[in-house]
Amino acid sequence: FTPAKLFAAAVLEASPEQANYLANVMRLEEGASVLLFNGQDGEWRASFHRPAKKRVELRVDVQLRPQPPLPDLHYLFAPLKHARLDYMVQKAVEMGAGRLQPVMTQHCQAPRINIARMQANAQEAAEQCGILAVPDCVEMARLPQLLESWDASRQLIFCDERAADHSPQQLLAPFAGRPLAVLIGPEGGFSQTERTLLTGCGFVTAISLGPRILRADTAAVAALALVQAVAGD
Ligand code: SAM
Repeated sequence: FTPAKLFAAAVLEASPEQANYLANVMRLEEGASVLLFNGQDGEWRASFHRPAKKRVELRVDVQLRPQPPLPDLHYLFAPLKHARLDYMVQKAVEMGAGRLQPVMTQHCQAPRINIARMQANAQEAAEQCGILAVPDCVEMARLPQLLESWDASRQLIFCDERAADHSPQQLLAPFAGRPLAVLIGPEGGFSQTERTLLTGCGFVTAISLGPRILRADTAAVAALALVQAVAGD
């Protein structure tokens, strides 16, 4: 519920879209319970009221959960087009990424990205799975500049279909509990120059996700699930 502050006894006016959704799509009855979050104040229970046909008020009652911190797992990816990008964003949020960073690479086929759409998608995915801390979606950066300004205390897990097929579990185990980022490339993969650049950085670990070349959106889910299972919280 942005940008309103949530606190006991606050009375919030729903936006026209929210009012339509609650009254006409969800068909809530007067006094029905609604769960609210705004990414800052945790989760609150409120009651639904309709003082006029096109107006909906939410009367905030009690806090159910405090605001958790954002997960300390960054997800970096070369943007895909349209529905595949939406899917990737949703899955990254569901898998517990706390920051989504689009990265421009040499073979990237979607040179622009709509960050507002990405952020809205992330918020929707967070709502779906009860995540109160909506991940930050940040502006696209070029791979070389990103690596130049990288904070080396965060290990970058570079998913590369050409990486030696060592056990990724073994490679990831030493990083359990440490700040991590996962990088997935574009539909056309990384160039040899980019591979050389990445593997030359001391904070980069290249992993294989198996002998098959996965679609980028599938690789995202596989990599984040693996990292969460081996090194996540
Ligand atoms: N052309 C397909 C597509 O349209 O999505 C496949 C693209 S694949 C080259 C995209 C990215 O997924 C790669 O750059 C890499 O980051 C990741 N990836 C795919 N398969 C992988 C594997 N077996 N191991 C590690 N990473 C993989």
